[in-house]
Amino acid sequence: METILVLAHTENDGSLAKSAREALHAAATLHKSLAGSRLVVGLIGENVQAAANSIAACPAQKYLGVTGADFSQSRYASDAAAAEAICKAALATVVVAPATSRWARVLPGVAQRLGGRADTHVTGAAMAEGKISISRWFYRQRMEGALTRTQRPWFIGIDPGSQTACDCGAGTAAVEMVAVNLTDTNKRTTVIGMRAPAADAQTIRPDAQLLFVTGAGWTKKQADGQAHLPEAEKLIHDFLKLSRASLGSSKSLVDLSGEGQAVLPFLSHLNQIGQTGATPRHAKGLSTCCHGEEPHTVGWRFIGERRAVNLDPNCGWARGKADVLYVADAFKVMAKVNELLAAGKT
Ligand SMILES: Cc1cc2nc3c(=O)[nH]c(=O)nc-3n(C[C@H](O)[C@H](O)[C@H](O)COP(=O)(O)OP(=O)(O)OC[C@H]3O[C@@H](n4cnc5c(N)ncnc54)[C@H](O)[C@@H]3O)c2cc1C
Repeated sequence: METILVLAHTENDGSLAKSAREALHAAATLHKSLAGSRLVVGLIGENVQAAANSIAACPAQKYLGVTGADFSQSRYASDAAAAEAICKAALATVVVAPATSRWARVLPGVAQRLGGRADTHVTGAAMAEGKISISRWFYRQRMEGALTRTQRPWFIGIDPGSQTACDCGAGTAAVEMVAVNLTDTNKRTTVIGMRAPAADAQTIRPDAQLLFVTGAGWTKKQADGQAHLPEAEKLIHDFLKLSRASLGSSKSLVDLSGEGQAVLPFLSHLNQIGQTGATPRHAKGLSTCCHGEEPHTVGWRFIGERRAVNLDPNCGWARGKADVLYVADAFKVMAKVNELLAAGKT
């Protein structure tokens, strides 16, 4: 009999992130299709009662918690000790957790301590021929693999954005506390604060509906023989502000800044989409001034509806990479789009 443990940590405000609800959805679906299995929720944070209450209507038989000021922030030693204690208390055979940066660096270590195995970047979990089967992408998202394991406990890190978030309602959950005695060595690392870009400077927005991609064309000489960088910067910045889209880039554009050329100041290699960049998940994507070559578009694997604006009717997007290609000047198109957005007409 499998005991499926959903392991989650609370956010700073004591709530559960969407990624935690996605992991819960994946675990509850497994539990439903696996007769005789148990579902346990394990929560870690300064105080977990509000988080447990927020999902009290989920089909879990038990809620376990490790709480206290020592567990409020991400720290390998205390997080690993807490996760290990909860896994033991739950007698967990399968551990489903959101692959947040906090869990991603801790759970493989916990699997090692418990003699288990960990799989990362999991995008699906289901029953197949009576066994739990997980799927993940390989070779920069070009191939999808499905695998099963006999080793237990089995840690499954669910990629945020790959599942529907569970919508189980709130109530009152009885949380059983698990004691964890941290040693001084466990507390050697002290978290002194968080540094994050101002909301306006944060251009990577995983929860945005739209991925807006900028390519090297924004920096190229235009019909008048001149490059128009300040204008490009303003158009892109205004569009991001008005649409709250997530900003992606081609490799050529982010590489330009590495070579010391004046480019868009709000772009870094973290924005790069593609084979050597990111493969984000968004409902829609709009590419501008980017050629749409294979090493770039492979990063669009998980983008629902794809559109591109390019002056070149023979660009890569025209060859089956986009649903709609506007053969047009992106400077003009985006100026008009911004005008409509500002007027509330879209
Ligand atoms: C091993 C390897 C890995 C790679 N990995 C990646 C990766 O992860 N991500 C990635 O992006 N690339 C990657 N590349 C590079 C990729 O092959 C391309 O070179 C790169 O994507 C090109 O960037 P671009 O389309 O922005 O620039 P360009 O190829 O220079 O295209 C610019 C486009 O802008 C258009 N344009 C210019 N002005 C306008 C205008 N006013 N309006 C509309 N359109 C306009 C032009 O028509 C042109 O199509 C990789 C390459 C290799 C070899």
